Amino acid sequence: MRKTLGLVIKKQNYGETDRIITIFSPDLGKKRIIAKAIRRPTSKLAGHLDTFMLSQLMLTDNEDLPRVTSAILAEPFEDIRNQLTLTERAFAITKVIERVILEDVSQRAIFQITLDAMARLNDNQPWPAVWTYFLSELANELGLGPGDFLCRQCHQKLIGGGYWHVEDRQFVCGTCLGEVIHGIFLEENSIKLLQLLRKNSFMSIAKIQLPAFCAAQVEELFLREITQWFNKPWSSYSALNSRGGL
Ligand SMILES: [Zn+2]
Repeated sequence: MRKTLGLVIKKQNYGETDRIITIFSPDLGKKRIIAKAIRRPTSKLAGHLDTFMLSQLMLTDNEDLPRVTSAILAEPFEDIRNQLTLTERAFAITKVIERVILEDVSQRAIFQITLDAMARLNDNQPWPAVWTYFLSELANELGLGPGDFLCRQCHQKLIGGGYWHVEDRQFVCGTCLGEVIHGIFLEENSIKLLQLLRKNSFMSIAKIQLPAFCAAQVEELFLREITQWFNKPWSSYSALNSRGGL
């Protein structure tokens, strides 16, 4: 038997009354487990293993598809599961996480980053702050994101914004840009936001009124970094609407 915490990120009906559940566990990484007879009205597991619930689980030892023998709800994330907007945002978080985490590999740091983001979302903290902070922490953990904020050509500080060179993963200033590069433009305030995300606590970021376009530019940079890492178009993971209000 193994005991582990698990955040339910996906569930799928299986057979007559069973369900296959994908959890994110700090010890086991991404893990598919089977909950037998969970769809029976008398099941003791139901109510502890719904999407976005965090539960303390006992699992059998089989490697392939461990069976849940008991589940105790640790955190229901009730607002996330009851409010559609929050549910959609939580899916944005787990959609990225599901691609990043590996099976059967302990990933405590990423687990904590995910749990923090879920708790802030459930707490109705401003979404642009929750999302950009989450992406920044995740990129950092994966060794992605800007290493410095200098132009790769002239090594000067970026003034009035800069271009993020997606392939080289470095900034280029407006003066050195020369011919059109395959990059994304970030305004001065977006670069400031990137620096703030790196150095400050979540609470200090949450206090700032983030302009929509800044959050969107920062989102694009991190998603391009992260999704290039797992080889998928970044735009399908966007969770900010840059045209509308936030
Ligand atoms: Zn330059």
